[in-house]
Amino acid sequence: MTDGSTVYLRTAARDSLASMIAAAAKAGIKLYAVSGVRTYDRQKLLWERRLKAELATKSARHRTDLVDYDTCSAMLKKIMPPGASRHHWGTDVDLVTTESKYWRSPSGKEQLKWLAANAPRYGFYMAYQRNRKNGVTYEPWHWSFAPMAKPLLEYYLKYVETADLGVYLGWECLQQVNWKTVFVAPINGQLR
Ligand SMILES: [Zn+2]
Repeated sequence: MTDGSTVYLRTAARDSLASMIAAAAKAGIKLYAVSGVRTYDRQKLLWERRLKAELATKSARHRTDLVDYDTCSAMLKKIMPPGASRHHWGTDVDLVTTESKYWRSPSGKEQLKWLAANAPRYGFYMAYQRNRKNGVTYEPWHWSFAPMAKPLLEYYLKYVETADLGVYLGWECLQQVNWKTVFVAPINGQLR
């Protein structure tokens, strides 16, 4: 199902994804998963790597150990911190590639058209569609298995707090940003 390393999902999500990929193949559309479950440590590595790159673009005067509000908000539009990624849940999958440019190409558009028409039959919805007022920016590759993701989101919004996310580079900035309301909650209405 992937281009190399194994992608893990919860069993029901995996089975439904496999059926969807098979149906797509029959229609001449090639789909495969490039990312499923991500561990806390993996997300920590991705978050810190991106934050370090972001901080490196700032002038020395602004480069402090404490990450400012604007940097924090800009980061959250692109990547969730460890403990806050939907990829921890085993219900969410990245398909084909996370390169935005690809999805504007003819083959990317064709895959998206097929997904938009057919993925809901398999329980999958694009989590971060275009034209939402808040939240993570448009990610045409990120699809979520609604039957399992819906209750997990409800639980998450109710019970998980900033302190539960742990300590890592930039973690303090999350105390200034209303991250659950502004970045976790604003997703596709079919996943709420
Ligand atoms: Zn994703």
